[in-house]
Order: sequence, then structure tokens, then C-alpha cells
Amino acid sequence: MVVSQCLGFAACRYDGTMAPDEFVEGLKGRVTFRPVCPEMEIGLGCPRDPIRIVLVQGKRRLVQPLTGKDLSARMRRFAQTFLGSLGGVDGFILKARSPSCGIRDTKVFGGPDDKTPLAFGRGLFGEAVLARFPDLPVEDEVGVSDRATGVEFLARLFACRQA
Ligand code: SF4
Repeated sequence: MVVSQCLGFAACRYDGTMAPDEFVEGLKGRVTFRPVCPEMEIGLGCPRDPIRIVLVQGKRRLVQPLTGKDLSARMRRFAQTFLGSLGGVDGFILKARSPSCGIRDTKVFGGPDDKTPLAFGRGLFGEAVLARFPDLPVEDEVGVSDRATGVEFLARLFACRQA
């Protein structure tokens, strides 16, 4: 199973912290985890200046406001290469709200310095995962913290393994 690396595997968040998660901890030793930090993989380093999703001419871009860098192409390229290199994969647990790993509740801003988001959506890596693996269980740590969702996630994971 692929997992966002900051969910208990490395202190790789932008501020040098980790975000250990109870659900993920409970699976350690029972599943084979493949931790990945897309932001480290595209060379951003740790700690790093924060990045965010910004709408530019109606398109969602991954930008780093303090440096003015647009990291969208790098992130999309990494996502395709990494996801294409996975052999057998049976599911994903990704970090909620991340501009890279988020799958539903990432803030989308109208400008690099805006304080209030216009909407919520997917991060660029999370978006690539959902597009490439529509039949696999993909959740974030907030989703699986809900008992019913966590049980359903595990049931789908098991079903994928049997298939
Ligand atoms: S959310 Fe994703 S990109 Fe951000 S620190 Fe965690 S693993 Fe890395």
C-alpha cells in the first residue's frame, strides 16, 4: 500500500514535522507500506517554503508563493513516473488537505497571497492517484478515522488482494 510518508514514516512536512496516524500505525506489520513524499521527490527539501493550489486562468496550478515557482509540471511528471513504476499496489492512504497528496479537501486559492480559499479540491499527486487507480481504495487519514469509512477501506483493500 502506498502511504504519504509524513503519516508516521518520516518528518518530511514543509515545517520539518511528521503527522503520525493511529490507523496507519495499526496497519504497520500487517501490510507492506510504500511511503512516498511527492514534495521531497521533486526536490523541495525539508523544511521548505509552503506551496498551495492556485487557480490561474481557470486551471489549478501548484505554486510556491514565496519563491514564485510553479511546480505543477514537476509534480505531474513525478506522479506519472512514480505511479507508473508501481508493480502490485492495492490501495493508498494519503495526507488530507495537502496541496500535493490531498484527495478532496485541499484549499484552492484565487491568488498566491489570498488568505481565504475559493474552493476545496484535490492536490496534484492525489488527483493523479485517483485518475490512474479508479478501482482501488484511496482514502486520507481523516476519512479512515471515521469507523465506517475505515472498515470499508479495509474491506475494499482485502477484496483487491483477493482479485
Ligand atoms: S502531505 Fe505528501 S507531500 Fe506533504 S509532507 Fe506529507 S507526504 Fe510529503
